[in-house]
Amino acid sequence: MAKLSSIEWTDSTFNPWVGCTKIDRPQGAPSACDFCYAESWSKRSGHVKWGNHPRRRTTEAYWNEARKWNARGADFLAERGRRRRVFCASLADVFDNQVDPVWRSDLWQLIRECGQLDWQLLTKRPQNIQKMLPADWGIGYENVWLGTTAEDAAAYQQRAKHLLRIPAVVHFISYEPAMGPIGRLSVRNQVPDWLIIGGESGVALDRTRPTKPAWVREAIAECQKYGVAPFLKQWGRYANNPLVLEDNLSEREAMLIDPPENGKGGGMLDGRLYRVFPESRALSTEAA
Ligand code: SF4
Repeated sequence: MAKLSSIEWTDSTFNPWVGCTKIDRPQGAPSACDFCYAESWSKRSGHVKWGNHPRRRTTEAYWNEARKWNARGADFLAERGRRRRVFCASLADVFDNQVDPVWRSDLWQLIRECGQLDWQLLTKRPQNIQKMLPADWGIGYENVWLGTTAEDAAAYQQRAKHLLRIPAVVHFISYEPAMGPIGRLSVRNQVPDWLIIGGESGVALDRTRPTKPAWVREAIAECQKYGVAPFLKQWGRYANNPLVLEDNLSEREAMLIDPPENGKGGGMLDGRLYRVFPESRALSTEAA
């Protein structure tokens, strides 16, 4: 579970514990939790029961992997010209109310110890962040990026307001799977630093919800309007790709122009890739 990641916007994933409960949305609204990848993984592996069951903490040996990445932080920086990014958590939610607060406190301690890593904490429970922050959070740890998922405009407006009121060196939104237009990025005159965009993948084709190119164009236009870094990760499947949907190419023809190496279902929009990363306020302050 601690490993190099194939997710385009990070380097490694780290799960301090495993297990989660799906988030309810208003009746009829599609939810990013519906086909939770982590739940499918847990059913296959038998590792933990999903939903209102005890979470399972990962082992000390596993936690030590993060310490090893941290110890090699200078080498990573020399090789890549940037710090290692760690996505936490892909099989759980850091701000889950059903987690033992001692575990979360241990995670904050690990994050403090591992100052050479940029921790990307992504949650669907941003309303819990404030009350679950460590006492010394202050204006935000220099090595922690805070993010939330928003699958459409209603989820964005509801969750981004909680996220953006917490000080952090980077605020990010995972608009994945994109299941409707995201609408205006400005919430109470604040915007995130980074918008990750992606179509649904890892689900049987007949169950996959579509992502429309028009929504993605609008989202990128909003990013350009507000100086938000856009990161188009993938279309999820070629049926979503504008080369197929709008230019009427076959999926095979589209693959030749926008290959799967660009992301699942390709990752180009109107002939280009959008793979921009945000600038951390902590680093820009140091450089100034
Ligand atoms: S919040 Fe994330 S990990 Fe938890 S059920 Fe939803 S998709 Fe799965």
